[in-house]
Amino acid sequence: MVRLTQWFARRIRPARPSITGTAQTQPADAGQARNSAGGFSFVIDDRARLERFLILGSDGGTYYASERTLTIDNARCVERCLAADGPGSVELIARVSEQGRAPKNDAAIFALAIAAGHADANTRAAALAALPRVCRTATHLFAFVDAVQHFRGWGRGLRRAVARWYVEREPAALAYQLVKYGRRQGWSHRDVLRLAGGAVGPHSLEHEVLLRFAVDGMAGFDKVRKVRRGEHELDYGSLARDLLPELVLAVDALARCTDAREAVELIRRHRLTHEMVPGQLKRSPEVWAALLDGMPMTAMIRSLAKLSEVGVVSRDSAGAAKVVNELGNAAKLRKARVHPLAILTALRIYARGHGHQGKLHWTPAPEVVKALDRAFYTCFANVEPAGKRTLLALDVSGSMGYGEIAGLPGVTPAVGSAAMAMVTLASEPEVDTIAFSTHVVRVELDRKAPLERVVSTLSGIPMGGTDCAQPMLWALERRKTVDTFVIYTDNETWHGNIHPHEALQRYRDRMGIPAKLIVVGMTATQFSIAKPDDAGMLDVVGFDSAAPAIMADFSRS
Ligand code: CA
Repeated sequence: MVRLTQWFARRIRPARPSITGTAQTQPADAGQARNSAGGFSFVIDDRARLERFLILGSDGGTYYASERTLTIDNARCVERCLAADGPGSVELIARVSEQGRAPKNDAAIFALAIAAGHADANTRAAALAALPRVCRTATHLFAFVDAVQHFRGWGRGLRRAVARWYVEREPAALAYQLVKYGRRQGWSHRDVLRLAGGAVGPHSLEHEVLLRFAVDGMAGFDKVRKVRRGEHELDYGSLARDLLPELVLAVDALARCTDAREAVELIRRHRLTHEMVPGQLKRSPEVWAALLDGMPMTAMIRSLAKLSEVGVVSRDSAGAAKVVNELGNAAKLRKARVHPLAILTALRIYARGHGHQGKLHWTPAPEVVKALDRAFYTCFANVEPAGKRTLLALDVSGSMGYGEIAGLPGVTPAVGSAAMAMVTLASEPEVDTIAFSTHVVRVELDRKAPLERVVSTLSGIPMGGTDCAQPMLWALERRKTVDTFVIYTDNETWHGNIHPHEALQRYRDRMGIPAKLIVVGMTATQFSIAKPDDAGMLDVVGFDSAAPAIMADFSRS
């Protein structure tokens, strides 16, 4: 009986000249491998995967892989890239880092640490030479030092590179790093300099004094009264006063200060930052108002909760006006390399009105919420619209609600997709938006809608299994004309009877449109639904601040 049915089915199934479907649980191409969800996807090359890792990181893992597994997988990928092209891979790491394409620098630091311990001497040298490009602040340096120990010992090359990080900086810039970031992740400048110390080459007296300050603090100048340097015998106590940058002395004075008015004086005169303010002054609104006046952009975005809690930023306040003005300054935002995801995170937390564990409480100022929303779009590289009929398709299957992009709290791949989709929606004139899991749901997204509302609309859609072919099948069924499909997904597709690239080909054949597909990958895995040898398909990394511009260029061409 079964055999008869099969025979019958074979006889009546019409011959299909065009693409037929392959169940997603079976490979449809030699370049595919089984993904974490049990379906078959393409495997991106190592360099593309390195880019994903540098931008998305592995913090929080994915629905399918723990953070540890994902980190180890990515570390192996970094090693393969370094083995294939050491200096070229180091250059990619440095460039992604210094261009601010990633929401967090951690993955670049980690990858650089692996490179610094690589077997090939040229690669190690390239990595150590790139240290100041990737580790631009002392916090970055501490993270690097912490990571690099897993990959190599404290040989001469590493000690020299770390010492250079200190002495090749202008004294004023070095002083800023020393007093702003004194201690992070269990590391202090004293620890780092003790390890690197012997390798500090020739340097100026100003540097000498600063390095001594870094190791022993101000007390160091009292302990050592006289020191020989060449032919000279130096009196350290007075030397310190003469040679230490004013900033260091001001921070020293602030540490002992208990009077808010005096503190405000010091903060304004020396442009001190909140990291330099001692505990006893941290609740003073006057102090925070003074800090806000000279606050660097990133610090301001991160401090909005605190500024609101102490009452400096509130509805219709001068503080709020200052914040709105700063956030509206596109040139300044770009110069500070503020990543859009940093804005999105700040927006989500600020609009909520309370901190992570309910410690801080504040009333959000509506004008600040609005300014953050606008700043989010400003932070992406300038996007020239492609002017193509575009279908944005968001994977809302269960796995998209798990994990954190770049370890940012609350930013799941689903939230990230919604935000990324809004950027294209804001720039392209002809866009439709759908959400899909095993079937398609049409969503009406208002270009002007605040991100928060978009996220909550999308998270209200019931979800199921994952079939990334749905957007193309849906468009074909409705004979909808689409030049460019954009799919936001973790690429863990498994449900359908036809692979996504086959569905795209079927759409192209039946509609006579050479439609393109852009896959916005929201997790740092090796999978993609895009067929690598099809020039009409492109993989981009979700939350690459350059992604929307790259997507528009590809769509237009
Ligand atoms: Ca899924």
